[in-house]
Amino acid sequence: MTKLSGGSLAAIFAAGCENPKEAWKDPIMQILLVKRIEPQGKNPERYRIVVSDGIHFTQGMIASQSNHFMADGKIDKGSIVKVKEYEAGKVKDKSVLIVLAVELLKDTPEEKIGDPKQVMPDSAAELAQQQRAAQATSTSNFYGNKAGNSSRSAGGAGAGAGPSRGAGQSSRGPAAGVAAIESLSPYQNRWTIKARCVYRGEIKNWKNAKGDGKLFAVTLMDQTGEIKATGFGDQVDALYHVFEEGSVYYVSKCKVQIAKRQFSNVDNDYELVFDRDSEVAKAEDDEDVPMPKYNFVTLEALQNTDKDAQIDVIGVLKEIGDVSTMTSKQSQKSFTKREVSLVDDTGYTVKLAIWGKSAEKFEVMPESVLALKGVKVSDFGGRSLSMQNSSTMQVDPDLEEAHRLKGWFASEGRDSNFHNHQGMNTGTAGANRPTVYKTVQQALDENVGFGENADFYTFKGTISYIKNENHSYAACRTEGCSKKVTEENGSWRCEKCSVNWPEPEWRYILTCSAYDHTGQTWLNVFDDAGKAIIGTTATDLHATQMYDESSYESTMKKANYQSWMFRIRAQQETYQDTPRVRNRVLSAQKIDYAAECTRLINIINLYGSQ
Ligand SMILES: [Zn+2]
Repeated sequence: MTKLSGGSLAAIFAAGCENPKEAWKDPIMQILLVKRIEPQGKNPERYRIVVSDGIHFTQGMIASQSNHFMADGKIDKGSIVKVKEYEAGKVKDKSVLIVLAVELLKDTPEEKIGDPKQVMPDSAAELAQQQRAAQATSTSNFYGNKAGNSSRSAGGAGAGAGPSRGAGQSSRGPAAGVAAIESLSPYQNRWTIKARCVYRGEIKNWKNAKGDGKLFAVTLMDQTGEIKATGFGDQVDALYHVFEEGSVYYVSKCKVQIAKRQFSNVDNDYELVFDRDSEVAKAEDDEDVPMPKYNFVTLEALQNTDKDAQIDVIGVLKEIGDVSTMTSKQSQKSFTKREVSLVDDTGYTVKLAIWGKSAEKFEVMPESVLALKGVKVSDFGGRSLSMQNSSTMQVDPDLEEAHRLKGWFASEGRDSNFHNHQGMNTGTAGANRPTVYKTVQQALDENVGFGENADFYTFKGTISYIKNENHSYAACRTEGCSKKVTEENGSWRCEKCSVNWPEPEWRYILTCSAYDHTGQTWLNVFDDAGKAIIGTTATDLHATQMYDESSYESTMKKANYQSWMFRIRAQQETYQDTPRVRNRVLSAQKIDYAAECTRLINIINLYGSQ
């Protein structure tokens, strides 16, 4: 068996790679697939390939000036080649190797060598970005309380050397000194953190026996953790307007003190206090600092959430109520409130209360996606949500969940009806839950899906068959588009985005047969549930199907005879003049056997009590 240049694809596609063309000299690779694209119009024939270095594989293309390497048919599936000239292309997160010159090393093709996996260009991205961040710091914009008081900045080294605090920082040699938030303690004071402002509170005025004043607080977050930082008096004027939620800052020279955790739900034993020496600089390069981490609870799952819990949710803003002013019975103070409603693709809606200034100046467009962190669950109206002082709201965040919800809302959510949590009996678990479970027979008997609006229910079933043909479609790679693309001249065209992609993203449209103890039914499965059911992305499945029939078959086989909790949206449609019900799978969850047993015991108990 020939030895391939294992690791060469990873080296070529490593995201920080300065010169991918030279990353690996003359790598030896195996061709796993050759696909000839017929000439179209003036365009000559093209050859699409899948190449492997034994560890990774990637999609590839023979540059058309090199077609003669292919045309004689000597290079084929299984061929071992030396790739003498190449370029590394990247389409979104997928790699494409463009082969400019190639040499056939052996006359006879070989069996597939090794068990190569799709090469992932982004795995090395973080490292490269950190290196770039180090160079970018000195060009950042610096802010401070007062410019020109250099005598107490710059670490005391060069008094009078710089006109502003910024000069002190840039001379110190930036990223070298970037500290992790989790490493901060009161015992060291020379540090700079690079952190995202994930929350900025309103300015608060206080008054007590000692006097009065004002303060504000922000929550800062990096890869290692989060920390609260508070500014008082003059620091409010100097720094409040510097911070914007979502932006990244270099922060240094603050007091580190023990956190007063009773006033905060920021997870850190320490907190920062800005003083007159504190330096805050906006970082232009912010990609290596994480966005807030969310642990989203679906709106359906709110029913299983305890009252007063603080949770993260994401949903589409469906309705915006007016601001109302109320008077607190306890304090006789008046306060303002606005209620909005959110929906998500579990088919549920929930009300969210927003308070005070945030309620008054709420200017988010309907149909935006809201990601909320740390909102409180109340049992008002079954289940509702309330913003807390420390809660954060991101509008249309660049998160996968948000893009998914946008797509769902545009394609079907806008016209759906939603369940609310009202009238749910919070006292007893099980029997009164609004999640409706139906067997195949029950759905038939009750004409589920034949009403004017779609019906939602949960079905515990086992997959018995997945249609092999057309399991996925070629989709646009633009975030949130997912429209079908058509192949033309060896590339894939999205009419909506007016973009041509070298390779599409494949998305599932599975037709599955599923059954329970009462009967059999057909389910339509789309990309998210499809990934769960098949256990891989449609893009990977498609590639497998092209070059490795047997592992494709075993993947499909494995997906059979698995049991799931399917959340179904059933709606009537007319097909060839005959009305029939389409069962669209909104989600497929692994069965939680403990919860399922509790549910069944509750049903059994209902019989017992009669
Ligand atoms: Zn598109």
